[in-house]
Amino acid sequence: MTSSQPIDLQNSTIASASQQPLWKQEGAEPFLRIENVTKKFDDFTAVDNISLDIYKNELFCLLGGSGSGKSTLLRMLAGFESPTSGRILIDGIDMAGIQPWNRPVNMMFQSYALFPHLSVADNVAFGLKREGVSRSEVKQRVAQMLDMVQLGHLGKRKPHQLSGGQRQRVALARALIKRPKLLLLDEPLGALDKKLREETQFELINIQEELGVTFVVVTHDQEEAMTLATRIGVMNHGVIVQTDEPHDVYEYPNSRFVAEFIGSVNLFEGKVIEDEPDRVRIESPEAGATLYVNHGISCAPEQIVHVAVRPEKIKISHNRPQQQDNCIQGEIEDIAYMGSLSVFRVRLPNGKEVRVTQPNFTRSMGDRFTWNDKVFLCWDEESSVVLTA
Ligand code: ADP
Ligand code: MG
Repeated sequence: MTSSQPIDLQNSTIASASQQPLWKQEGAEPFLRIENVTKKFDDFTAVDNISLDIYKNELFCLLGGSGSGKSTLLRMLAGFESPTSGRILIDGIDMAGIQPWNRPVNMMFQSYALFPHLSVADNVAFGLKREGVSRSEVKQRVAQMLDMVQLGHLGKRKPHQLSGGQRQRVALARALIKRPKLLLLDEPLGALDKKLREETQFELINIQEELGVTFVVVTHDQEEAMTLATRIGVMNHGVIVQTDEPHDVYEYPNSRFVAEFIGSVNLFEGKVIEDEPDRVRIESPEAGATLYVNHGISCAPEQIVHVAVRPEKIKISHNRPQQQDNCIQGEIEDIAYMGSLSVFRVRLPNGKEVRVTQPNFTRSMGDRFTWNDKVFLCWDEESSVVLTA
């Protein structure tokens, strides 16, 4: 049974510009509640005591490396696996013992598994026909759904006559036509090449916003998660190590693991010398300098921490800059021209390698620096974070 309620396009409970998103509102009811969920296979723990609330109309991304437990968690939401312990509530209802087909959920698998002998329209119609929806309604809903995924003109084709991106959209239409309240997508764009992935990501966001369905998307691709997500849950070894909005996961990772998993980062080990209310001073032999970070953290004096600096936050110059703090010196070892940006590998006197990226505003930008140049690397106090884990 899936809900046959008409979809209310006006009923968008996600934040408008003036309103806080639901996950920031105190006491807001989650649409999906995952409560201390653990899944063991024999004595191997694939999902380890995860608790997570996901709100209506979110596009939540579970992001993690291979084997981190993403698919296992998704399969428990769909009802294909049952938790060893813990509870899953959807719209306030405990899903324990409820079969997959009786959940207000649909799952789209990585392999789209379209029926090769059926036309696009019949593939999309399949689930509805089985439910005994009237012919005319099936016809009308299929047409509407195909229009939405921009395949209205291809309904008569067979799957093998479509491109990868088009097949992906058929699978999406088929998953959405039964109007699930919760759509689970496991690596939905995995089979697409880079350009098509990017286009499809935006389409996915548009469709999600239009329908007001709550999406949980599994991906191992951090750029994809950054593009798609209202929030990201970063998974490692069966645990969600950080849950935040994409910008916050990137700017304020809570651990070295997250900092290194999401994008590229320079880490400098150091010792906290002074924890002032709005600034921390860190002595870092690894950077060969005293480093300052201007937002408060809770750490003890003498604590060993890591200062994380993103490559694009570092300014590179030949001349000694006016800025005194957070400046280190090194020698350019390697330059990679990446089109829109250049990547520098700079070696510090102590042997540590630092990565710096600079946008290429003009074609000749790269010429200003060359191999073996002695350079200064500086960043602002607010451009780094202190990691204690
Ligand atoms: P991900 O989707 O993040 O790549 P999975 O959730 O598929 O990871 O798997 C997490 C871990 O659980 C892996 O080590 C995997 O081998 C193990 N696992 C998954 N399903 C089973 C199963 N049915 N039996 C035994 N081990 C499993
Ligand atoms: Mg998986």
